[in-house]
Amino acid sequence: MGLNKKSVDDINAKGKRVLVRCDFNVPLKNGEITDETRIVAALPTINKLIKDGGKVILCSHLGKVKNGPNEGESLAPVAKRLSEKLGKEVNFISDYNVTGEAATAAVEAMNEGDVVLLQNTRFRGKEETKNGEEFSKELADLADLYVCDAFGSSHRAHASVEGVTKFITEKGGENAVGYLMQKEIDFLGNAVENPVRPFVAILGGAKVADKLNVINNLLEKCDTLIIGGGMAFTFLKAKGYEIGNSLVDDEKLDYCKEMMAKAESLGKKLLLPIDTTIADGFPNPIDAEIAVEVVDADKIPAGKEGLDIGTKTAELFADAVKSAKTVVWNGPMGVFENPTLAKGTIAVAKALAETEATTIIGGGDSAAAVNQLGFADKMSHISTGGGASLEFLEGKELPGVVAADDK
Ligand code: AMP
Repeated sequence: MGLNKKSVDDINAKGKRVLVRCDFNVPLKNGEITDETRIVAALPTINKLIKDGGKVILCSHLGKVKNGPNEGESLAPVAKRLSEKLGKEVNFISDYNVTGEAATAAVEAMNEGDVVLLQNTRFRGKEETKNGEEFSKELADLADLYVCDAFGSSHRAHASVEGVTKFITEKGGENAVGYLMQKEIDFLGNAVENPVRPFVAILGGAKVADKLNVINNLLEKCDTLIIGGGMAFTFLKAKGYEIGNSLVDDEKLDYCKEMMAKAESLGKKLLLPIDTTIADGFPNPIDAEIAVEVVDADKIPAGKEGLDIGTKTAELFADAVKSAKTVVWNGPMGVFENPTLAKGTIAVAKALAETEATTIIGGGDSAAAVNQLGFADKMSHISTGGGASLEFLEGKELPGVVAADDK
């Protein structure tokens, strides 16, 4: 699927103030960045705009900012790391108001190729609400052009993602998408809309309810849909199996039946676990040592809980991946945070690492699992956006993409 939106290659940034919405929502521990993936992913767009002689004004949110602005969720550590990565000074505007006098003065003083980073956009509560117009306009007032490169936030119609574009247009500016957005959309879009077949989609994670539309949409697009993780048990129960104390969503039993019937009528393969790794209960703490056994999926004893796919299932799923040409994976196969219950997720990650197919990992937990288990460099693409990539797989349009100017 070609993206018919203006990109950074279609705008002339020379001497212009360019506001770039990045996704610098990095994990922090005691003020230190523990994973710089999102910073590294933003570099190509930033470097391109610097090279073109733009005045590069960066903004992003970080964290949930539940209790108002605070130093723990300041973008200061990002400014420092970004400055090291770019090999040049990043002028960080620490003002909790994000826009305002300090930001305006800093932007006025910019030369071509300079970089300014504004404070966490969520420090302005209105970023997240529909009433963010004032903030959107203040952001637009700082710039001539706008570039959205925050794939991880592109499913939210926030002030700095979508709201700002209207005001940029009003003042005669242009709205484009950055290289990261383009890359994400190329991979995910091609996989879903124009896959090289066989196309195998793998879904896991905790709840069926979170992925209803993803299951429905992918069933239409893929050749084989594999379902593992906690969500598989609602399907197994819908088939009439006893599932003990395994995770289940009784309200979705009919939905699961409908999906199984849909797969059959479309002639698609829907693979469910044939065996499962069970224990007396959920590990507490999550990485505690745990005694497990593997039983057939239709023989889960009362009182036991299925916490990972079993060995035969791991082989079945790995086999399906072997002959695939395109694989999309979202959601772990079990409680992968626990080494004893990570085996199914590792087996699937390994199968993806070994196949010649284009392999695309939806963000969130599956990206974390692939990184944590050491398979990251074997995948064709690991999405930087969990929620955004899921919405993409649901077939939804992303507000951050829609808001960019058409070519
Ligand atoms: P999600 O956020 O929906 O992708 O779910 C990810 C979470 O699902 C991880 O924290 C896993 O520990 C959890 N999970 C995966 N399989 C199971 C299972 N069989 N029972 C309970 N939780 C699970």
